[in-house]
Amino acid sequence: MAVMRSRSPAATDAVLDRLIAAEEERFLARTPRSRALLDEAVGVLPGGVASSWQSAPPQAVWLDRGHGSRVFDVDGNEYVDLHNGFGVMLVGHAHPAVVAAVQQRVTAGTHFAQPVPDLLPVARELARRFGLPQWRFANSGTEATLEAVQLMRAATGRSRIVKVEGSYHGHHDTALVSVYPDLDEAGPAEAPRSVPEHGGVPEPVARLVSVVPFGDLAALRRVLDAHPDEIAGLLIEPIMMNVGIIEPPPGYLEELIEECHARGVLVAFDEVKTGLTIAPGGAVEHFGVTPDLVCLAKAMGGGLPCGALGGTEAVMSRITDGTYEQVGTFNGNPLTMAAAKATLCEVLTPAAYRHLDALRERMVDGARRVLADHRLRGYVQAIGAKGAVIFSDRRLRDYRDFVAYDARWGHAHWLYQHNGGVFLPPWGKCEQWTLSVQHTVDDVDRFVANLERFAETLTA
Ligand code: PMP
Repeated sequence: MAVMRSRSPAATDAVLDRLIAAEEERFLARTPRSRALLDEAVGVLPGGVASSWQSAPPQAVWLDRGHGSRVFDVDGNEYVDLHNGFGVMLVGHAHPAVVAAVQQRVTAGTHFAQPVPDLLPVARELARRFGLPQWRFANSGTEATLEAVQLMRAATGRSRIVKVEGSYHGHHDTALVSVYPDLDEAGPAEAPRSVPEHGGVPEPVARLVSVVPFGDLAALRRVLDAHPDEIAGLLIEPIMMNVGIIEPPPGYLEELIEECHARGVLVAFDEVKTGLTIAPGGAVEHFGVTPDLVCLAKAMGGGLPCGALGGTEAVMSRITDGTYEQVGTFNGNPLTMAAAKATLCEVLTPAAYRHLDALRERMVDGARRVLADHRLRGYVQAIGAKGAVIFSDRRLRDYRDFVAYDARWGHAHWLYQHNGGVFLPPWGKCEQWTLSVQHTVDDVDRFVANLERFAETLTA
């Protein structure tokens, strides 16, 4: 990993370390109220946060409110929000259509655990976008992938699941295998070991999960052939989005579906991140491939907790006939459905996607120009509303490449953007930006200007 011009790698390393230290200091000086709340919170919230990944170094930033493309922290700092709640807020904050739908619903009762009419336009719109006829609802991405895993097992009468090394699918047992494994435990790159993510995942569960490298059909074939009649399904992010952004090699998704189907193995796309954000019909539309199941969450609910599972007639009939009982007290919750209906049918229109495309192009062009002008190592990977600057001289293809990429770059860039009034998702190396329909050219230009200052500092 290096930067450029005349600076040696060792000198660049030293600059990067100094830059992180200085930017963390600025960051802490700008967020004293967050610090005070954190100090109060540690007594009642482990680590002072509601979810462990909210606690990114140097400290969690406590937010007060969001409007349009901007969020405001408890210290009064304003940010262009490209974190967007880990990609949920594709509609932007407090979008008038979502606000109106939620306000109307909240005065007419928010929960019955009985079907409500809004289920129909939401299910129909998802069916239209993803080309899968039947849908059920859940309350998070974790629930959506958990349902997919259990349904694939119930439908096939088999127990084994295949997943990709370095993919995150939420926090149920089967999903928490080889997400970010240590390389000294992870075995050879072409035949990774199944590593439980933490002590809460029992070894026997991990043993029921086979792990393959992304983009490697030969490795997948070996796993499929090693376990004849044992594998229920493959759960896969069609584009890896918890290791920056890694797109699949051409033809990979089509072929993996063929290989799986030839052996009676089902395929579920985890489109929790890609669904709705990279195209109106997610990876299914973008790549023109249809798996047996699609898992959605995040952007679908316009900011309310949500999840969905779409499937073919054949697989979803196993819910209809009772082979698999897909259940949940809050499934199809009226408030979520009202927000989802407004999101899908009123906000995420073809014009909205054209706006997102134009902003992305401007952002990508600007970022590429900065990298080129300053001869900063790295590349820009972007698709739909999503994108990332990956400060690696090699294009990442899979988890092993991702591990070799120095995390300090993503962190330094994240800090730099933050202090410059742009809120990217924390964990810079793993995450990507999400634009919203309410972002503007000025927002995008602020991101590019910050990147330029970052490049200047590193190359000066
Ligand atoms: N799948 C993917 C691809 C994700 O990125 C995530 C969350 N980042 C999940 C599933 C889990 O979603 P949730 O946090 O809503 O449970």
